Amino acid sequence: MKHVDIKNILSNADMVGREVVVCGWVRTFRDSAQVAFLELSDGSSFRKLQVVIDKGALSLDPETTKLGASVAVKGAVVKAYKGEGKELNAKEIALLGKCPPDYPIQKKRTTLDFLRTIPHLRLRTNTFAAVFRVRSVAAQAIHRYFHERGYYYINAPLITASDCEGAGEMFRVTTRPWNCAAKTEEEYYRGDFFGVKAGLSVSGQLEGEVAATALGKIYTFGPSFRAENSNTTRHLAEFWHVEPEIAFAELCDVLEIAEEMLKYLIQAVLDECPEELAFFDSFVEKGLIEKLTHVLRSDFAVCTYTEAISLLEKENARFAFPVHWGSDLQSEHEKYLTEQVFKRPVFVTNYPKEIKSFYMKQNADGKTVAAADLLVPGIGEIIGGSEREADLGKLMAAMSERGMDESAYRQYLDLRRFGSVPHGGFGLGFERFVMYCTGMENIRDVTLFPRSSKNIM
Ligand code: ATP
Ligand code: MN
Repeated sequence: MKHVDIKNILSNADMVGREVVVCGWVRTFRDSAQVAFLELSDGSSFRKLQVVIDKGALSLDPETTKLGASVAVKGAVVKAYKGEGKELNAKEIALLGKCPPDYPIQKKRTTLDFLRTIPHLRLRTNTFAAVFRVRSVAAQAIHRYFHERGYYYINAPLITASDCEGAGEMFRVTTRPWNCAAKTEEEYYRGDFFGVKAGLSVSGQLEGEVAATALGKIYTFGPSFRAENSNTTRHLAEFWHVEPEIAFAELCDVLEIAEEMLKYLIQAVLDECPEELAFFDSFVEKGLIEKLTHVLRSDFAVCTYTEAISLLEKENARFAFPVHWGSDLQSEHEKYLTEQVFKRPVFVTNYPKEIKSFYMKQNADGKTVAAADLLVPGIGEIIGGSEREADLGKLMAAMSERGMDESAYRQYLDLRRFGSVPHGGFGLGFERFVMYCTGMENIRDVTLFPRSSKNIM
């Protein structure tokens, strides 16, 4: 269907006087004796196009005026009667699809909770359309950021036989029926599609290291899967994961790249989505634009885990889970650090090795590893990264301390046997970034069809 996007009509001065076809959904209808007005939106941007109908010249099918109906309008673009904008003088209106009155997206502001029950229709609202436009712009910016800096884009497999974190939160991939009569686990998997236990990847990092130690700088950007049972506003069972991996890099390099990347992404969203951000600033998070511009201007804070614990211990009375050296940081602690103490994004570095993964570089103190989590106000952890252990002996020792099966990691160990190099990287939760930029407080509201425990609509 030849037609022009509403966004193009409204943003190009030379459209005035042109005859065009516009397609969209009816958002409002106003009627008077001689003229009627339809407001159409087509998803191309926030703005709606006003269609002016001369009732003397055009007979109006009432179905084309119903909220949510889809129509194609042929007409002339003119300067708006009022204000700076443009409108369309209709010559022909064709009904594309009727919309009966039980259309669940009605004009009165409906709740996010209700809209979560109709994920297939909620993108027709201003809020969700804006979220997904921002999400798309952010995704493009991620590719641009890395591509402009010479990173290669790698696609790691989603089905894997290794559980990257050893954390046991992996979904299994199987073709065996639930009632197959295997007597042992081994027998069960022997009869399965891959012949071994397989699952959905929790991270592309191990494969990312393979690529980085050959191509130098790489990134992956794809789904990761975690069978998290925690029903929080920040966790999904399926989320999109941005994972750069850089050879010849130490922890300080990883921090520098993470900060630069995050600022680049924020700048791109500010530049390319001004209308969306103004909307979120008014209706979702007051001060959002100021928050984001403040982040661009400020240097991210850096503090070691040990410093963080001593800051938190002073405030232990306020936490549901008091901390001591060795505790994993909960969301309440992360938020306190970034929101109350530093009031800007903060990297927490050098965590106790017991609460971090086997592959992180062991520091000389024998107690901590070269990890860095980036915490941001309103969310908590948005990035988790580290320098990787490049020393074969130390890596094998860390694996055996954790009771890990070396034979499953032969390829990973080979990277340390053959020309090992200092390297590191991080993982950004893409949905958490979209939450941060839009002010949306629930990760389910920045994901088309969110998957979480007991929820797969
Ligand atoms: P958290 O402590 O918040 O559960 P994590 O430490 O388990 O996160 P990492 O393994 O470090 O997460 O993953 C890197 C990034 O991926 C995190 O910083 C976060 O932004 C994102 N992430 C991790 N798990 C999820 C999830 N279940 N849903 C959405 N994003 C996630
Ligand atoms: Mn983490």
